[in-house]
Amino acid sequence: MNALHDLPIVVIGAGPTGLAAAARLHEHGLPCTVLEAGDTPGAAVRQWGHVRVFSPWRYNIDPAARRLLDEAGWIAPDPEALPTGAELVDDYLRPLAQLPQLKPHVRYGARVEAISRLGLDRLRTAGRDTAPFLVRLADGDELVARAVIDASGTWSTPNVLGASGLRARGEADAAAYLEHALPDVLGADRGRFVGRHTLVVGAGHSAANTLLSLAELAAAEPGTEVTWAIRATAPTRTYGGGNADALPARGALGARLRAHVDAGRIRLLTGFSVQALTPTDGRVSVALRHGGGSVESITVDRVVGATGFRPDHSIAAELRLDLDPVLGATRALAPLIDPNEHSCGTVPPHGVDVLAHPEQGYYAVGMKSYGRAPTFLMATGYEQVRSVVAALAGDWAAARDVQLDLPETGVCSSDSAVSAGGDDCCEPQAAGRGLSTGISGGLLSAPISLIALDAAPAGGCCAS
Ligand SMILES: Cc1cc2nc3c(=O)[nH]c(=O)nc-3n(C[C@H](O)[C@H](O)[C@H](O)COP(=O)(O)OP(=O)(O)OC[C@H]3O[C@@H](n4cnc5c(N)ncnc54)[C@H](O)[C@@H]3O)c2cc1C
Repeated sequence: MNALHDLPIVVIGAGPTGLAAAARLHEHGLPCTVLEAGDTPGAAVRQWGHVRVFSPWRYNIDPAARRLLDEAGWIAPDPEALPTGAELVDDYLRPLAQLPQLKPHVRYGARVEAISRLGLDRLRTAGRDTAPFLVRLADGDELVARAVIDASGTWSTPNVLGASGLRARGEADAAAYLEHALPDVLGADRGRFVGRHTLVVGAGHSAANTLLSLAELAAAEPGTEVTWAIRATAPTRTYGGGNADALPARGALGARLRAHVDAGRIRLLTGFSVQALTPTDGRVSVALRHGGGSVESITVDRVVGATGFRPDHSIAAELRLDLDPVLGATRALAPLIDPNEHSCGTVPPHGVDVLAHPEQGYYAVGMKSYGRAPTFLMATGYEQVRSVVAALAGDWAAARDVQLDLPETGVCSSDSAVSAGGDDCCEPQAAGRGLSTGISGGLLSAPISLIALDAAPAGGCCAS
């Protein structure tokens, strides 16, 4: 028992939430090891480094991390400024991970492949809560741990293109033509889009962001073409209310997008879902099925999937998880963030109790904790790890005193919410509400063209 308590707590992921957990563990004097799959802190954030976030610095810095950085003489950024993802890494996450209190405990190139209990598979109950966790890395190395804080995010598991939540036919074979959400169209990835035809699939802010960049590229580079396919019968949710929109940034974003569509710079296909992809002569043919049953084929050079993200629970498959069947968040958290019910996901303060699984000592936190809900905020994750770490330190009063200090307005600083390329990247939301970082609030309740049963492809040898 004592031996178990001497073991380190493993934190998976050195993103904003994982490093905040490490800072909290340091403050409590609890030994920890942070395992990061990438080569740098904030490896996932770095990949969307060209996007400017919509919450100002003051909400993006964890209080415990801040204390450690301040002690080291860190020059804090302007609290009201909106950093890009790259600035978030360079000005905050990297200096944090470099601190002597944290640096020796962060391992890079350490991808966690599986977590279990030492000597116990998921079926065994006797002695389970006192058995150490066994954490296996992709390179075969293994660690034992007292507890596991899984802050591995969702960036590396984007949703598929297929409308049923399954890959569209041929999606895997067409991987060479597919882009992850939010490519750096005007920067590092420009060469893949110049003079080419790109299809963007999805109706959230990621899609809007990419479309605006592609339209800018198309204006400067002849031969660059842009098509946008959405399942909704109209792009109303993505456009917002234009000048009359209650949320000005959403209105501005939507108005610009609409102007490009109206001018024919972006070809919009509504009511379509991706049915199949077929590589053809160095390009890819995409079969788009309309709800009515008709199929339109379009041949393009690149396809950007901007359809959101999902958590990868496979690494915890040997643990006893209690997951909500819809979102893949814990069952207790899911109703608080369900995007089917909430236009933008209200975020009441929550901590260890809501995040607990039957597997005592395993907590998924941060972006991953929200499952498929697209409304996670760093500030929420920082409060999650404060509570979880307090519980691991035995301070249950502090663990249960959960608070989320979001302001009346301004978490999403709408007036200046622009992408690094000059485009608006988000919509502001009301006080105390989650912000849509993937699919815009309420999008799931927007009307879509359902695929009619008689329009679905028949299977096997009976296909007509
Ligand atoms: C474009 C965009 C804009 C956003 N804007 C905002 C905003 O304005 N305000 C806001 O509050 N939130 C915003 N978010 C949402 C969210 O706060 C961020 O995604 C944030 O980075 C989540 O932090 P995280 O630490 O939970 O996950 P991540 O940042 O995704 O970090 C997870 C880390 O785990 C590592 N990892 C993954 N799998 C493994 C594994 N198996 N083993 C080891 N390591 C692993 C990854 O390499 C990564 O470094 C935005 C998100 C996106 C995508």
